[in-house]
Amino acid sequence: MNTTFQDDKPVTSSLLIMGYEVVIGFETHAQLSTQSKIFSRAPTAFGAEPNTQACAVDLALPGTLPVMNKGAVERAIEFGLAVGSHIAERSIFARKNYFYPDLPKGYQISQFEIPVVQGGAVEFYLGDEKKSVRLVRAHLEEDAGKSLHEDFIGQTGIDLNRAGTPLLEIVTEPDMRSTAEAVAYAKELHKIVTWIGICDGNMQEGSFRCDANVSVRKPGAPLGTRREIKNLNSFKFMQQAIDFEIRWQIEELEDGRAIQQATVLFNPDTGETRAMRTKEDAADYRYFPDPDLPPLVISSEWVERVRSEMTELPRVMAQRFVRDYGLSDYDATTLTQSREVAAYFEAATQACGQPKMVGNWIMGEVSRRLNLAEADISACPISPAQLAQLVSRIQDGTISNNAARQVLDALWSDPQATVDAVIEAKGLKQMNDTGALEKIVDTVLAANPKNVEQYRAGNAKALNALVGQIMKGSQGKANPQQVNALLLQKLS
Ligand code: ADP
Ligand code: MG
Repeated sequence: MNTTFQDDKPVTSSLLIMGYEVVIGFETHAQLSTQSKIFSRAPTAFGAEPNTQACAVDLALPGTLPVMNKGAVERAIEFGLAVGSHIAERSIFARKNYFYPDLPKGYQISQFEIPVVQGGAVEFYLGDEKKSVRLVRAHLEEDAGKSLHEDFIGQTGIDLNRAGTPLLEIVTEPDMRSTAEAVAYAKELHKIVTWIGICDGNMQEGSFRCDANVSVRKPGAPLGTRREIKNLNSFKFMQQAIDFEIRWQIEELEDGRAIQQATVLFNPDTGETRAMRTKEDAADYRYFPDPDLPPLVISSEWVERVRSEMTELPRVMAQRFVRDYGLSDYDATTLTQSREVAAYFEAATQACGQPKMVGNWIMGEVSRRLNLAEADISACPISPAQLAQLVSRIQDGTISNNAARQVLDALWSDPQATVDAVIEAKGLKQMNDTGALEKIVDTVLAANPKNVEQYRAGNAKALNALVGQIMKGSQGKANPQQVNALLLQKLS
């Protein structure tokens, strides 16, 4: 008998659900953003009339031969470089045989034993805890067509426009231990593929489809039997589906039933997962190397050329933000959540030279307003230049943080306005005239002898009352630090 090993990963009891540990592994199909298909020159654009974008190769007409699309290979290489994988010098295409009406050849061209991208890891934050999910592989394959069920006439049609669309299937080790970790992984993966531009990431259109493999076990036990939830096409459904699946499996086990390996579908209407078929294993697909395609050979020169043309990766950019702008790792990660946010941050920072304040305003007040409007930064009415101007005006003491929030509100509803014009129009300038401020301070001290006495008697809180009175006297325009300094000076 062989030894069973447990993973060298501590299990914190807070992650246990009714005494069970959750284990999740992901398979993600990212549709590659090529213009033409993986083995033919038919276009890949989404949403065309059925069967107008499928050529003889996609229809599997006799005598046609597949020819590898260079753009698909380069995108696979870019992905591998982004996640620190090994790019295979020589990988093999295989036929995965199964029958389905939307698969005209009767097999899907995929990669089996030797995939193009091997190993690597996806790193991300879960709260403030750093996680790393190891990748097993990422392989190139073609998508199948679609069955269109026309329920109202009781017929099903086949649309082969999608047949032959290039996919990269990205497979993880079973490294995730909670729904939250799984969703965070999927979001990070989505960020990477859209950041490097190999996939448009449109989940509704099926450009980024996740299958979640879920099992549960008692801590320290060997891996439990998994069920695979297919085609999760939103992060919200992903969370609901995995949560439901975990609870369902635990209840089955607690009731004394064993889990059967199966492929399941999530129904957003009921919030439940349901078995679709018992899971095939590899043998059922009768994989064998495709004799129509030679091995995919990738020279190190090709890899290096792709590397030299790649944009700066989010992790690398975050490290640069820490180094050059003095941000915390957490803030740098948040500000590199998308290329647009990062570009916005850098533009505003370059305009005013205040990276920390710019970062705080983006992550705080700006994000809050964008969330309320359910918009992302590309729809932000405030330009980076305007934010930079606002930050400069706080920095040079013209306005308080509080006044700056009012300026932000005003700009939000009138993006044509300028920061200075709003400050002027709303009379938000802080009082920097010491003489005028001193007068208010003197008046307030004279009118509140009791507070003065209490403060002198050691009641520090009495000072707050005086500050409040002075701020009121200045209609909120006094600089609080200046008020404090003046008061202490007068009272000592
Ligand atoms: P198959 O080839 O049958 O789909 P794989 O070994 O390739 O199976 O695994 C598919 C996915 O399932 C991988 O992401 C892997 O991490 C995950 N996985 C494997 N075993 C388990 C398990 N017991 N629980 C959860 N996920 C698992
Ligand atoms: Mg698999």
